Order: sequence, then C-alpha cells, then structure tokens
Amino acid sequence: MHLRKRVLVTGGAGFLGSHLCQRLVERGDDVLCADNFFTGTKDNIIDLTDKPNFELMRHDVTFPLYVEVDEIYNLACPASPVHYQHDPVQTTKTSVHGAINMLGLAKRTGAKIFQASTSEVYGDPQIHPQPESYWGHVNPVGERSCYDEGKRCAETLFFDYHRQHGLNIKVARIFNTYGPKMHPNDGRVVSNFIMQALRGDAITIFGDGDQSRSFCYVDDLIDGFLALMDTDDAVTGPVNLGNPNEFTILELAEKVIALTGSKSELVNNPLPSDDPLQRQPNIDAAKALLGWEPGIQLEEGLKSTIDYFSRML
Ligand code: NAD
Ligand code: UDP
Ligand code: UDP
Repeated sequence: MHLRKRVLVTGGAGFLGSHLCQRLVERGDDVLCADNFFTGTKDNIIDLTDKPNFELMRHDVTFPLYVEVDEIYNLACPASPVHYQHDPVQTTKTSVHGAINMLGLAKRTGAKIFQASTSEVYGDPQIHPQPESYWGHVNPVGERSCYDEGKRCAETLFFDYHRQHGLNIKVARIFNTYGPKMHPNDGRVVSNFIMQALRGDAITIFGDGDQSRSFCYVDDLIDGFLALMDTDDAVTGPVNLGNPNEFTILELAEKVIALTGSKSELVNNPLPSDDPLQRQPNIDAAKALLGWEPGIQLEEGLKSTIDYFSRML
C-alpha cells in the first residue's frame, strides 16, 4: 500500500526537470529524480533534498532501472545544441535506449509515462505555424540529427508500446522554453544573450538574426506538463506545448538589451548548419484537450530570468 503517487522524473536535475520536481513535491507526490548530471546540477534541486517526499538518484537512462512507480516523466536528454552535439552517439542512445528502458519500466509497473519530445521533430519546417499533423522536414544525417531523429524514434517507440502493449502514454512536443535555472553556460539563445548583456560582452547573433523562435516561460510549460499527464487515458498526444508569440532572434537581442540596460554590441557569427529558419507552435490541440495556454509573455518572463542570472554573477 502506498498513499501518495510515486513519480519518477528522469533528467530531474536539469532546467525543466528541476521545475517539474519542485511542483510535484509541493503537491505532495513522492518524487524520485534520476539524472546522470551531464547538463543538470544538484544546485537546481538543492531546496528539495531535505524534503521527505523527494529522492535523488544518479542514474543514466541508457541503463535499465528497476523501481516501483505510478508515473514517469521522461525528460533525460541534453537539449542545447552545444551539449547534444558534444557526444552525438550518446545523445541518440539517451533518446532511444532511454525510451526503451523507461517504456519497459512502464510496461512492467503499469505506470503512465510522459515523453518530453520537441518541436525539433518538425526540423526546418515548411508549414508555419506547425500543427501536430505535420510530419516535419528533418535532415537525417546532419549535426542536429542525433537529437531530432533520436526524439523522432522515441516518439515511434512510445506509440508502438502504446499500440502493442497498451501503455498509457502522453507525448508533449515542447517548443523553446526559457526561465530561471537554465544553466548560464547552457549555450541556448536566451541564456547566452542575458549573460552576454549582463557582462557587457558582445551579443552573438548567429546568421543575420532573421530566424524566428517562439519562447515559452517555464512556469507555463510545467502547467502544460501536469495538465497533459492528468488527461483521460484516451489522450496520448503528440500535443504541442509552447507559446505561439514569435520573435526574430534580432528582436530577442534588442529586448534583452533594453531590459538589462546593457551597452553590449551585437556581433554576427556564422549560422550553425540546419538551423531552422522559423518555428511557431499551433496550440489548438493543447487548448482543446488540456484547456491550457501560456499566460506569461516574453517581456515579463525575461525580467524574471534576468533577475535570476543577475544573482549568479
Ligand atoms: P537540460 O539539459 O537542462 O536537462 C536535461 C537533463 O537530462 C539534465 O539534468 C541532464 O543531466 C539529464 N540527462 C542527460 N542525459 C541523461 C542520461 N543519459 N541519463 C540521465 N539523465 C540524463 O535540458 P531541459 O531544457 O531541461 O530539457 C529537458 C527535456 O525537455 C529534454 O528531453 C529536452 O529534449 C526537452 N525539451 C526541452 C526544450 C526547452 O526549450 N527547454 C524544448 C524541447 C524539448
Ligand atoms: N526495463 C527496465 N526496467 C524495468 C523493466 C524493463 O529498465 O522495470 C528495461 C530493460 O532493459 C528492457 C527494456 O526495458 O530491456 C525493455 O523492456 P521490455 O519489457 O519492453 O522488453 P524486453 O525485456 O523483452 O527486452
Ligand atoms: N542563437 C544565436 N546566438 C546564440 C545562440 C543561439 O543567434 O548565442 C540562435 C540559433 O542559431 C537559433 C536560435 O538562436 O537560430 C535558437 O537557438 P537555441 O540553441 O536556443 O535553440 P534551437 O536552435 O534548438 O531552437
């Protein structure tokens, strides 16, 4: 007999995982955080380590894991291009072997399982904004492929375990998300620009800055995770979770400069290969199925994020 829900969060010491663990602990779940600390840190979850309903375990999801749980959030995977391209074979293993192990665990225990998929499954999209029905435009052999194709294969595995073994799955396609607890050296655009602006360093625009992204604040995203996990068994996803407000990278740089009052200059660096030109979620499915939409807009979210990074200097 157990009284509270036992929830496993893989990648729980990372940016999104640590926010998720905090919310689950606050609502009284019994949380097991499993992480190999590749990009995550104990600092992100330091406030939770003395809570009786939180447990931290060093574990690499490419290896089997035998624990008894009711729900699994599978977030383990580096998310920044700099990090996922550092050891691309390990990135694919993390997505694919990690998914197989977590799905095997869900199959044995009967746990409900959530997958942190990504807008990268759409690649460099030729349909804009992207609905879930779009199959994507992904280079299978480029430098981003370890992440994009690894996540696509993980989705395939989730749906095959659902069809073949009746698993209760929830697949979220997450669009660019930012906020406190991103690693200052994470390499993604929001943390890079804020750190550069606060230090007075040049702001590195890759390419001409005309490429766009749609930025979601972390608190909104975690609301979406919890709402998706709580849907009826018939809801499997994939469901886009993101903020549809789209900005060019140049507009983002200008906003960060204005909000920090920085004197940083803008410099143009080469555009990385296969960098998607545009990205914006169609969130009609999330609105209809989860009653969810983001409420925190870029300026407000950037202010909290800038505040967090200023305290780290
Ligand atoms: P992050 O790098 O901060 O967190 C990833 C976590 O996974 C880290 O704690 C890392 O140490 C851990 N990890 C990596 N490989 C592992 C392995 N083999 N075994 C165990 N742990 C491992 O990134 P994030 O932004 O928090 O992303 C979390 C998840 O959400 C990832 O799966 C990512 O693909 C997905 N996602 C994030 C975004 C975003 O904008 N933040 C967008 C789309 C998808
Ligand atoms: N697995 C795990 N924990 C479990 C059950 C399974 O990590 O509690 C892993 C194990 O490595 C296994 C994989 O999940 O190989 C897939 O499990 P499944 O039952 O689908 O396949 P099989 O055991 O036949 O390989
Ligand atoms: N980018 C940039 N400068 C940076 C980091 C990133 O101009 O210092 C650009 C990058 O080329 C991409 C966008 O910002 O077009 C978002 O990059 P990020 O790595 O945050 O996420 P992703 O490309 O995975 O969406």
